[in-house]
Amino acid sequence: MTNIIFFGPPGAGKGTQAKIISEYLKVPHLSTGDILRKKLLDKDNLANELKKIMSSGNLVSDDILNSIVSSRLKKDASTGFILDGYPRTLKQSEFLNNFLNEISISINYIFNIKINFTILKDRIIKRSSEESREDDNINVIETRYNEYLNSTEKVSNFYRDNYSNTYYEIDGSLQIDEITDKIKKILKKS
Ligand code: AMP
Repeated sequence: MTNIIFFGPPGAGKGTQAKIISEYLKVPHLSTGDILRKKLLDKDNLANELKKIMSSGNLVSDDILNSIVSSRLKKDASTGFILDGYPRTLKQSEFLNNFLNEISISINYIFNIKINFTILKDRIIKRSSEESREDDNINVIETRYNEYLNSTEKVSNFYRDNYSNTYYEIDGSLQIDEITDKIKKILKKS
């Protein structure tokens, strides 16, 4: 059973790698961004609220995310999981750690895909035309990147400092298959 967290700023390729590794290990891919985007299709009050927050590049509340992830992990925790896009705040990581402790499950690998803002901006603009995601336009890139710097980077630093034997930094400027190879090598090593 393998439990993995992927970190990285928007556009770093964490979703792509999480999907590839999920198929490689045959472990469920839990992307909170994908789950939230599916909820937008409901067109109810919650969906309208989420749409406002997500299209502006801000973070959805910790309570909503913690409840989404814990209900999914109750199902997937026994088979392993790949978390993509969660935890994004220190409150979420606290919640996750308590939740996993209670069910005696630990994280085996934390991959932090690092990339600089210039490469990232170009990639997000390209992805925006391919996937027509409303939150990928130039106006919200900065908000999303700042959310990453203000919140999520603190979370990945927390794991780097406290879980150093499971934490790996990966160069996100490499090609997709090069990044995948690096990740697979790490998975094979242990
Ligand atoms: P992503 O596809 O991971 O880039 O997520 C798209 C958007 O969904 C983010 O910009 C946030 O608005 C929201 N979102 C996804 N995961 C989280 C999270 N863990 N906490 C708060 N908001 C999130």
